[in-house]
Amino acid sequence: MKNRLQITDDDRWQSVVNRDVDADGQFVFAVQTTGIFCRPSCRAKHALRKNVRFFADARQALAAGFRPCKRCQPDKDSAQQHRMEKIAHACQLLEQELPLTLDELSRQVAMSPYHLHRLFKATTGMTPKAWQQSWRARRLRDALAKGVPVTQAILNAGFPDSSSYYRKADEALGMTAKQFRKGGDNVSVRYTLADCDLGRCLVAESERGICAILLGDDDARLAADLHELFPAAQDVPADAEFQQRVREVIAAINSRDTPLSLPLDIRGTAFQQQVWQALRAIPCGETVSYQQLANAIGKPKAVRAVASACGANKLAIVIPCHRVIRGDGALSGYRWGIGRKAQLLQRETTREEP
Ligand SMILES: [Zn+2]
Repeated sequence: MKNRLQITDDDRWQSVVNRDVDADGQFVFAVQTTGIFCRPSCRAKHALRKNVRFFADARQALAAGFRPCKRCQPDKDSAQQHRMEKIAHACQLLEQELPLTLDELSRQVAMSPYHLHRLFKATTGMTPKAWQQSWRARRLRDALAKGVPVTQAILNAGFPDSSSYYRKADEALGMTAKQFRKGGDNVSVRYTLADCDLGRCLVAESERGICAILLGDDDARLAADLHELFPAAQDVPADAEFQQRVREVIAAINSRDTPLSLPLDIRGTAFQQQVWQALRAIPCGETVSYQQLANAIGKPKAVRAVASACGANKLAIVIPCHRVIRGDGALSGYRWGIGRKAQLLQRETTREEP
């Protein structure tokens, strides 16, 4: 990279020709024939080089009698805001069905792939790829919940048409698409909300057993989470038997180490089931890393898939995904909030008074 002091007008012109967004904020250029000045990255058609003048900033261009371009508004937003708008635009592009590569995306928002990736992650907390995948999964869930046939729903959602698309769709849903459809169509799920030591708790059951235990602070949010997992779930008044089962669940949540003896309805892909079974084998008071868990199921290279299976756990505490921490000892994420995870681990590692 050149020292800023050595940048010549030829360099600046090159930035204009390239519509280099990284040059925004470093200078503006004005066109003598139109009387208008622009940011380097302006998408407007370029003037001839001989009619272009450069200024250090908008103030100087205004002082020389030029008017700001309406398209790139070089006098208004800071370069920072201009970049934020590009990220917002990138988000919209990624939310459409057509999968975009980073290169295609960076061309469309006129930013280098490197800068786009870095800025996108800094702004949204997700990579562009993860953003795209989460929207794809959302479309798939919506389509399946509406009754669109499985194969068509997967293709319409934008999953690639290849032998891997079922697997990818399953990963996104946390179960096979067919099972998910069943959740939407046939399986009746009822639920109720109660207080527990960790805040609010939603307990849901199907005819096979307890199928979801979700923790949170907000009832409406918990109900929305459940409907995403089981679109046909109903909030029905709990009869005496269901109430009794809910009490058992809450007791298990509130106690340090009381295994729940109720039947569970554990739905997931074969891989997730394997991970969840391994989680249930971690004794109270102990933690393992994702790597150790991957080793435990005989798939030492599947660390990331193991982590996402932990994140897809629907049965809080009963399947103790809170007992998995990062290799360096950091808590890492928890579907129901890192504060709850810390609270649970502290409770489990502290010896109870006799
Ligand atoms: Zn412009």
